[in-house]
Amino acid sequence: AKSAGGNRYEFADPEADARVITRHGLTTALPTALERGEFFIEYQPLVHLGDGSVRGAEALVRWLHPQHGVLGPDRFIPLAEHTGLIVPLGRWVLEQSVRQAREWRERNGGDAAGPLRINVNLSPCQLTHPGLVQDTVEILERAGVTPDALCLEVTESALIGADDDLLKPLRRLAEMGVDIALDDFGTGYSNLANLRRLPVSVLKLDRSFTRGMQQFPADPVDLKIVEGIVSLAHSLDLAVTVEGVETGAQAEQLRILGCDTAQGWYYARPGPPERLHELALVDATG
Ligand code: C2E
Ligand code: CA
Ligand code: CA
Ligand code: CA
Repeated sequence: AKSAGGNRYEFADPEADARVITRHGLTTALPTALERGEFFIEYQPLVHLGDGSVRGAEALVRWLHPQHGVLGPDRFIPLAEHTGLIVPLGRWVLEQSVRQAREWRERNGGDAAGPLRINVNLSPCQLTHPGLVQDTVEILERAGVTPDALCLEVTESALIGADDDLLKPLRRLAEMGVDIALDDFGTGYSNLANLRRLPVSVLKLDRSFTRGMQQFPADPVDLKIVEGIVSLAHSLDLAVTVEGVETGAQAEQLRILGCDTAQGWYYARPGPPERLHELALVDATG
């Protein structure tokens, strides 16, 4: 909290904000927020570490609450999961994002690095919802976007101990050409050998691993761990994306370690879709 005009305090950070908004207030407003059009999506670029080109973006949902302003997903996704709104909300995010990818593709068609791709987060509740595969197919068809432009991100914890019923829809999507990424990798306790069983093609290495690389030289233990994960991932034909890259030193060390793609404030904060297009265009023209 920072001081604003002497005796009043203005909450400048989301955590302080969280304390003043009651859980109850958000729970009652949430079910109708989708109908009222209060959600919007920011996009954060995914950058190829080898050549620095923008390859796509992750869609990150926000809620423009009429009283409380912009709320981040950590504030309302758990509530949406609890109330079941996550299924229609997740479908909405997917539809918007896929349409956005279509627009980027049209405007950026000649880019040598290839068309921009879109990453969308899937909550565990969406995984168990029977309409997932059908909805995804329809959304892609309606937008005229091929499945290979889409990557669905599922957290490692959602798939720990997953049985075949849970994996079936993901397998079908993967067979169609949709990429599946294992999000927040390294925060759960999954058996590395288990990776072979999962229909994933991308590992998203959690921010906690890249934190030790903000300075140069990096923590040697962190380097060893990331090096090991990257070599294991590559031996299983998985691409490695790193999250939370905040400095040039991190980016360089992660590139040397063989990571494929990076995401983080060093490149860009999440922002409106036009911003991504600008970044990608700058890139394509050198
Ligand atoms: P995530 O999937 O791990 O997304 C990455 C988070 O890291 C985002 O937070 C992003 O803004 C933040 N981030 C990106 N670069 C940096 C960096 O360099 N440094 C730091 N410190 N942070 C960085 P955000 O947008 O608050 O999203 C939080 C989480 O909410 C996401 O974590 C994801 O699990 C969830 N989420 C977001 N959108 C959706 C959605 O549409 N559906 C579902 N089910 N979950 C969503
Ligand atoms: Ca994610
Ligand atoms: Ca993540
Ligand atoms: Ca994370």
